[in-house]
Amino acid sequence: RCPTVMAPSTQQRRFSQASANTKQRAQMLIAKALETRVNGINPDECDAGSEDAFFVADLGDVYRQHMRWKVNLPRIEPFYAVKCNGDPKVLELLASLGTGFDCASKAEIEQVLGMGIDPQRIIYANPCKTPSYVRWVAESGVRMLTFDNAEELYKIKRFYPTAQCVLRISTDDSKALCRLSLKYGCPLDDTAKLLALAKELELDVIGVSFHVGSGSEDPSAFITAVEDARTVFDQAAEIGFEFNLLDVGGGYGTHNFEEIAGGLGPAVDKNFPPSVRVIAEPGRYYVATAFTLATHIIARRTVQDEMKGDLPSYMLYQNDGVYGNFSNIIFDHQNPVAKVLKDQNGFYYNSQPENTRLTEYSIWGPTCDGIDCITKSCYLPAVLDDGDWLYYTDMGAYSKCSATKFNGFSNDHDTVYVVSEPGAKALLDM
Ligand code: PLP
Repeated sequence: RCPTVMAPSTQQRRFSQASANTKQRAQMLIAKALETRVNGINPDECDAGSEDAFFVADLGDVYRQHMRWKVNLPRIEPFYAVKCNGDPKVLELLASLGTGFDCASKAEIEQVLGMGIDPQRIIYANPCKTPSYVRWVAESGVRMLTFDNAEELYKIKRFYPTAQCVLRISTDDSKALCRLSLKYGCPLDDTAKLLALAKELELDVIGVSFHVGSGSEDPSAFITAVEDARTVFDQAAEIGFEFNLLDVGGGYGTHNFEEIAGGLGPAVDKNFPPSVRVIAEPGRYYVATAFTLATHIIARRTVQDEMKGDLPSYMLYQNDGVYGNFSNIIFDHQNPVAKVLKDQNGFYYNSQPENTRLTEYSIWGPTCDGIDCITKSCYLPAVLDDGDWLYYTDMGAYSKCSATKFNGFSNDHDTVYVVSEPGAKALLDM
């Protein structure tokens, strides 16, 4: 089914014009932050590790994504999915902007509560929760939590019988980057039975949630899920529940957000009266493009391939890999693209060296594991060696949060913050 594509409103057009101007400012700020940090490091003399990979995060980008959300989905309240990137400044900004938070564990709930956030602004959106966490959360003031099976209902009855329960239903996530409905979500065939059990247990079920899969490429999946949620609302009414919450989950990409919103917003309005509160759990959408990662080349190996003539290619080893911030290659199906940040001739951001001869590289992380590979083949317009720097854009989602300390390498890299939006600056304590 094709979603109805609506013509952009005046507000939407103004918004995209404004963000084009500020995006230019953002590029300048990011370039300056990268250059200042890199130029302050002399790899021949610096303390061991001070040339570690680092992020530059533009909080203005997060702010713009929030404004883009408000313009396109004004009825739907975002609850940022902390799991995607728990950066404290991102959380601080989103808290000031008034979003809620989707937390998956005790630690995430503690992080958000520790910022002084009202527990009512949190949903504990993990359908299969650790029992001791449920006991703990009952004392924390957080009320909303999700479930999708009978055993979880018995657990909630035992440890938190006054919780506001939200039934997560399964979705068609076949076109998503990361599928979730293989693991979570109650099939529509079972929802009536599950709701009847909840009634018998005298639990308070307040609504329905779904997640169409992370990195969804399929706007129609949202529409189908909204219609399925409507069916479950009707079932619940027959059983005697008065549902008042719809949670349309996460899964929003950055490049086709307007297309998703153009289908989702009208579907919500068509199926649910204004009395129903509608929330969402976007993660990737808020942070993916806000973070740029700079990596240092620590070693190089020359590869002579006689089949390819006399031009050598090289294996480059950088100080961050799939066990670190490039965990997004393994867990999030990403293909980060290397660009030259600095070589012996100068500094490049948003431009590349004017060397028309391209050199072939494979790029590897620092650990001793053969799987630690960023790319098997790429071409860059420079002959790079150890001491040079690379950078990667769009490294904000599911990167640092799933990095390990394998081989003793750090998983806590510095973040240099820039704020390309005056509106965001005014909200931040920095
Ligand atoms: N909500 C839940 C329950 C999730 O499991 C996830 C991601 O796994 C999200 C929200 C965030 O999804 P995304 O980053 O695709 O928006």
